[in-house]
Amino acid sequence: MADSQPYRVLARKYRPQTFAELIGQDAMVQTLGNAIRRGRLAHAFLLTGVRGVGKTSTARLIAKALNCVGPDGTGGPTIDPCGVCEPCKAIAEGRHIDVVEMDAASHTGIDDIREIIEAVRYAAVSARFKIYIVDEVHMLSKAAFNGLLKTLEEPPAHVKFLFATTEVNKVPVTVLSRCQRFDLRRIPAETLSQHFARVINAEDVEAEPEALALIARAAEGSARDGLSILDQAIAHGSGAVTAAQVRDMLGLSDRGAVRGLFGRLLGGDAPGVLAAVAEQHALGVDPAGLLRGLLEVAHGVTRTKVGGGNDPALSEEERAAYAEWASRLGFAQLHRIWQLLLKGHAEVQTAALPNEAAEMALLRIVHASTLPDPSELARRIIEGGPPAPAAAPGLPSPPPPPPAPEQRLPADFAALVEAVNGQRAHLAQRLHDYTGLIRYAPPLLELKPLKPIEPEFVRDVGAVLKTLTGTAWTVSLGDGAAEPSLLEQERAAEAAEREAVLASPVVRAAFENFPDAELTGYTLKKA
Ligand SMILES: [Zn+2]
Repeated sequence: MADSQPYRVLARKYRPQTFAELIGQDAMVQTLGNAIRRGRLAHAFLLTGVRGVGKTSTARLIAKALNCVGPDGTGGPTIDPCGVCEPCKAIAEGRHIDVVEMDAASHTGIDDIREIIEAVRYAAVSARFKIYIVDEVHMLSKAAFNGLLKTLEEPPAHVKFLFATTEVNKVPVTVLSRCQRFDLRRIPAETLSQHFARVINAEDVEAEPEALALIARAAEGSARDGLSILDQAIAHGSGAVTAAQVRDMLGLSDRGAVRGLFGRLLGGDAPGVLAAVAEQHALGVDPAGLLRGLLEVAHGVTRTKVGGGNDPALSEEERAAYAEWASRLGFAQLHRIWQLLLKGHAEVQTAALPNEAAEMALLRIVHASTLPDPSELARRIIEGGPPAPAAAPGLPSPPPPPPAPEQRLPADFAALVEAVNGQRAHLAQRLHDYTGLIRYAPPLLELKPLKPIEPEFVRDVGAVLKTLTGTAWTVSLGDGAAEPSLLEQERAAEAAEREAVLASPVVRAAFENFPDAELTGYTLKKA
């Protein structure tokens, strides 16, 4: 790439020139150092790892290590190449005649390899070793691999092959088996973040630590990608790199808004969830991105719960919110939310109507979040407590009835019986169990006796009602169409309720999981 493209600058400028500068690959450097000190170097090395993790840089460092002659020109192979001798300088500048770099992505054929095979027969021109660096080696054709294999089987002592690949599974096992393999790790975000801090310092630019942590996280283990992002951030910012600007640049949705949405999901606030989705949609956040943000929150809370919440990319508010949720939510709940979000994310990505799909996916979580945990449910059942029925969250609850003015006349027959019960329990029992209501129009009460009742019943009820209400009542018995007794009504309601409880998803799920369970009692949450 040309130098006129500024986003390459940092990645080039800070390309490691020594193994000490190569970040995040300590294990590999140590193994390599041991091999060099003991003079037990393989003829071929295979460097694997994701893009930008330092494979090509490592290959060049190995080339230097093998060919360095030291400042005085008498040194041997070393894990600390001097960087000042002619071979070191020439390799760093990519002009060493005995170090040949080839990109297999653009030279895949046998002819390209044949050139190498021909050349390896001749001794190195000026260096100790003739070194072939083949990048993206998995791109070579089958014929090219076969041609290479012959050379790998009987390599001349002065030749070293350094292969690099992002897809080691595409490299034939016959080649693999002849290479010393180094798997370059994704560089941990923390290490990248520190690296960026050094770069920022050297560049004399200000940057918020949170901004660097965000870039490190976005780089996903690649120093090169991270430095490219940092380059852009410096170019966009005016002398300072801020977290807000990096978020904006990376298209990260507003994490505060996503956290707010997560809270509404947990709280079963369906209208709030829909409003938040609409707001994010209006802001141009794509629905899949929104789901991804929620997945990150669920992941962050779960990590926090196991004590791994010290991600430097998290802001103070995020840490606090995660800690709060982590203390409230069980692992089972968190895993369920994760599964539902993951499913929702997949649906949104393939949906014809992504925003609608996001809404549906989130409403599913709203409804699921109000169900008790299966383990919680089991605990309640084992303890004999009542399983709380699933509320119907999200539906606007009916407005509370206006407070009734203080009335002396009972509102209905049931209330009348209740009032009588406070005075004459025996009479109340008769009213409740033995009579059906024909008409209730205070101060008029007409009842149908469903069982034989004492003759003085009507008179006694009238007397009690007068005492209770201060009004003279007309109480009569008739034979007209009457409601069932209150007792019968209550029994019917109980039976219906029990049916409803048994049919509710929570209890059905419980019975499926605990077939021998029995519904011995329950209470319904009063709205
Ligand atoms: Zn040197």
